[in-house]
Amino acid sequence: MEKPFEIVMLSGKGGTGKTSITASLAALAENAVFADCDVDAADLHLLLSPVIYQHEKFTSGAKAEINSEKCTACRLCKELCRFNAIEVKDNIYQIDEYACEGCGLCVEACPVKAISINRYENNQLFFSNCRFGPMIYGKLGIAEENSGRLVSKIRQYAKETALKNKARYILIDGPPGIGCPVISSVTGTDLVVAITEPTLSGWHDLQRLIEMIGRFRTPVQVIINKYDLNEDMTSTIETRLKSEGIPILGKIPYDDAMVYALLDSKTMIEAEPQGTITNELKKIWNTITSIIYEPKSI
Ligand code: SF4
Ligand code: SF4
Repeated sequence: MEKPFEIVMLSGKGGTGKTSITASLAALAENAVFADCDVDAADLHLLLSPVIYQHEKFTSGAKAEINSEKCTACRLCKELCRFNAIEVKDNIYQIDEYACEGCGLCVEACPVKAISINRYENNQLFFSNCRFGPMIYGKLGIAEENSGRLVSKIRQYAKETALKNKARYILIDGPPGIGCPVISSVTGTDLVVAITEPTLSGWHDLQRLIEMIGRFRTPVQVIINKYDLNEDMTSTIETRLKSEGIPILGKIPYDDAMVYALLDSKTMIEAEPQGTITNELKKIWNTITSIIYEPKSI
């Protein structure tokens, strides 16, 4: 069975236009499945308006809980906890749920069995169809930090959906930054599209991202968004990328039309009138689809 081609859209930081570019490529992609892995601030659905047909809670982790009626204040759990997650107030032992990693050591150690572990189902997964195809996305619960696991789950379901539908592409809107959820978004993908803006901080963030991606040997290509806002910086970025052998997938000019399309919950491909940005996005998608790759069997 042919494996779908997985493309992940990333940016070294938020606010580079990653999601609106991803949504526009989704409008151009035929026979694709979409995955929003920006679980801390999922907003691809705002542009693609998917209709949810299934909803699932996702267990994100575990936290310990102390039954104060059983606790004899022996102090053992506090001494053992490596995460400093047990606090004492007025001689009452309590768990700091933000610090607790749910390792279970205190549960095993407590001589009077006063500690139990609660599993939390704060995270949510949504299975949906948008106007361009199936879409899987998730929502991280408040104060949840296990976004890497949620990202992996979304990708797993996106892959299953793609295989079932014989989809050729999985287009992933990845999280910003270079942390754990980004690593979960990149592993095993076929192409990273890194989106940057022509500023010094944009370039630094892009460098850090490229360095991180380098560990995974996934090919990376770059889009410079709003490139005409600082053509000198754009030229510097182009020169530096060329010297590092990293191709530029496209350069998108600034246009108010992008903002109006966003306000209208539309992609640039659907917005009227169509202009330079639309043509550039079409060129970008054509380049992505023309990248030669060896289909892998699973
Ligand atoms: S180990 Fe058990 S009994 Fe001892 S302080 Fe902790 S909860 Fe209380
Ligand atoms: S479960 Fe682990 S991290 Fe949480 S309080 Fe107990 S020992 Fe500490």
